[in-house]
Amino acid sequence: MARFDLILVLLNGLGLMALIALAFGTIERLMSDPTLKRWLHAPVFALGTVASMLSPAHLADGIIIDTRCVIVALAGAFVGWPAALAAGLAGAAYRIWLSGAGAPVGVVTIVLAAAIGLLWGRLYRRGRVARRRNLIALGLIVSAHIALFVFLPLPDPLGFTLNLIPFVVPTYVAGVFVMGSMMQRETRMMRREQSLEVDAFTDALTGLANRRAYDALIAEELAQRRGAEIGVTLLVVDFDHFKQVNDTYGHEAGDEALKVVSRILRSCVREGDYVCRHGGEEFTVILPQTGLPQGRRTAERIRHAIEAAPLIAGDQNLSLTVSIGVAGAPQHGDDPNTLYRCADAALYEAKSAGRDQVVVYGRPQLREVVSVDEREALALAN
Ligand code: GH3
Ligand code: MG
Ligand code: MG
Repeated sequence: MARFDLILVLLNGLGLMALIALAFGTIERLMSDPTLKRWLHAPVFALGTVASMLSPAHLADGIIIDTRCVIVALAGAFVGWPAALAAGLAGAAYRIWLSGAGAPVGVVTIVLAAAIGLLWGRLYRRGRVARRRNLIALGLIVSAHIALFVFLPLPDPLGFTLNLIPFVVPTYVAGVFVMGSMMQRETRMMRREQSLEVDAFTDALTGLANRRAYDALIAEELAQRRGAEIGVTLLVVDFDHFKQVNDTYGHEAGDEALKVVSRILRSCVREGDYVCRHGGEEFTVILPQTGLPQGRRTAERIRHAIEAAPLIAGDQNLSLTVSIGVAGAPQHGDDPNTLYRCADAALYEAKSAGRDQVVVYGRPQLREVVSVDEREALALAN
């Protein structure tokens, strides 16, 4: 057995693993859909497995060794079954095609590596970061496959296998450790970036979309619905005399009230509608594909739900009301600034007219100081 040849092949295998880890990281960063990512990783690991077998170390006639098992095992451990299956099938098919005395054992080691990787992934990862000792354990278990070499049709299979141990075990453990760590780091960095992105668009107190998210959402919705008959309705919701709440019950009680009310706002709208904290105690609600009459009804539902909400500050009941301005695209304008200005003007009218009411922009006849009957009907409907 040419030891130099063997060492060279194993070192080459380590280089190839680094390349695969790099490709893994690129896919992780570029794609956002987790299912698509898993399927894109599959051909990378399949190609990587075959590449690792292109120039193996020839140990005896028809018997070769390379780093394919590490790549297959890592596909199972860090990516999941599509990659493990693709890498396993590609590796096994290629090994059968190469044929030779070692082919049956070679195929079994590939299948075992895929199974070990998948099992390890389930036990030690599950979305968490695996510990170093678990990575080392994976490398040891995968390298243990050389025990199967005792079944090779050779004059002294046991001696042959024992000779391989000092070369194969350290390389496999190093391969799993280095490549596994690289892949984990990529995944971790990507998750951190994503969570920072989410934070940048989320209001810290209420968990609602923030002003920055609102700007992006309204622009996108208006652009999408441009030219459509039923456009977008925008509600601007502002608390009445909120300063008094703070002054009377304290800022913390005010914060608590904002959190409760955020949940109420969310519960009053459909899936696909957006509730944003625009700033302070002002909220915006974007209702895509909604006409003004329907938008006004939603505004009324919100106004009523907040009025009826059992809010408690300390040991006192707290009663909050809101005023809501409503404007719609395309009737009142189809760019974000104009639409907001119209809804805000309607809000101002609602405040001037005594608060605790919904006003639709530019249509005083729709200025709804809802009748007692209608309030009761709404209460029943809720
Ligand atoms: P109006 O009916 O005219 O809207 O009266 P208002 O007191 O609600 O309106 P104004 O805009 O004068 O004051 C808003 C108050 O909301 C000021 C501030 O104390 C309070 N506020 C804004 N943001 C927060 C917050 O994050 N937490 C708390 N607790 N209070 C806030
Ligand atoms: Mg206010
Ligand atoms: Mg305000």
